[in-house]
Amino acid sequence: MIADESRLQTTIKSFAMFWLGKRPTSLRVKLRLLLRLAPSEFLRLENSAEARIPLYEQVCKEMKESKAQSGIITRHGKRITVSHRGGIVVRTASYTLALDPKRATKSDFSFVSHAHIDHVHSPDGNSQLVASEETVALAKVRGYNLTGAVEQVPGIDLVDAGHILGSRAILVEDSLFYTGDFSIRSRGFLKGSQGVKCDTLIMETTYGSPRYVFTDTEKIVSQVSRLIADCFHKCRPVVLTGYPLGKAQLITHLFKNWEPVFLHESVFNMNEAHIELGVEIPRHLHCGAGSKQQALLKRRPWIMIAPAASGRSQFIKNLRENYGAIVIAFTGWAVDRRYSYVMGVDYAFDLSDHCDFNELVQLAKYCNPSKIYTVHGFAAEFADHLKFLGFDAEPLEGIEQSTLTSYA
Ligand SMILES: [Zn+2]
Repeated sequence: MIADESRLQTTIKSFAMFWLGKRPTSLRVKLRLLLRLAPSEFLRLENSAEARIPLYEQVCKEMKESKAQSGIITRHGKRITVSHRGGIVVRTASYTLALDPKRATKSDFSFVSHAHIDHVHSPDGNSQLVASEETVALAKVRGYNLTGAVEQVPGIDLVDAGHILGSRAILVEDSLFYTGDFSIRSRGFLKGSQGVKCDTLIMETTYGSPRYVFTDTEKIVSQVSRLIADCFHKCRPVVLTGYPLGKAQLITHLFKNWEPVFLHESVFNMNEAHIELGVEIPRHLHCGAGSKQQALLKRRPWIMIAPAASGRSQFIKNLRENYGAIVIAFTGWAVDRRYSYVMGVDYAFDLSDHCDFNELVQLAKYCNPSKIYTVHGFAAEFADHLKFLGFDAEPLEGIEQSTLTSYA
């Protein structure tokens, strides 16, 4: 009977967390999660008014108390505070550290996890930049000056993030681990990272919904190679599209056995920077819109590696109209079958530089923290899933300040 009551209490608590919580969880997710709870106990609850009211009140009280204590960890006494007001800022007894700030932020240190535009900012000189050597070099190609950035600071460790060349996660005081954008999957010249054991994990959840489970890279390469062979057989050129930094170099590497390959100018610049940094990818000519080399495109068939763009953009339209090109896009969002239609491309493949849903779960389990904060993408949905797995998790956005006490 006692065991029954405790199970019923857990069930109500889960129910209350999803239905009464302020978190924006979609109805579909709520329903799916609800189905995983014991329906018979809900029926019993429905028929038992005297059990329902006190239990409901008790659950609400517990939720209130747990919210007030959110994030407090007790080990040896070193205090770390995390705040999220326009950006994530970590405070220890000796320094403040801004994590991937969107703009110059008042802090002793400012961490730039990698050179994607949404993670790089122009520093104001008052904050010591922390970034990898490769991130500094790649940001320079994009016009950002991160000169003076350091990789080593006492109490701070940079950890490979497996996302793009030079991407790093950060471990603060051997306790708090921030992933930045992260991949545990090895692809081409990029080695996946497994993460580190920590007390508190701040993890990206770009693809933190169960429908985002990516196809094996080898399978994608084999499917696309067959498509290219078919197009070449019909004398039709192929345009492979992806983000100019990261995805385009991966595409260059994965399809290195094909030729001729031409590069859009933005991809060319990033490929050259990768080659200078020691990455083994073939060197190709650039053939962007308006370039002198465009006459070369009359030689058919060919492959062009170009930035991710809508099939309706003028650049892609020209390649289609003038050369009959077939357009293939590479992005994790291609898991959604409507992607190719919406983006107006001929084919789309789910090649991603992020963890998919299962890999995010694997990462959380490996790090095995006492507390998890989720950021980006499906932050609320994934935090809900982590709770079902037994983790103490919540989305970081909206938390103005939470205090963590840890022990270095
Ligand atoms: Zn990124």
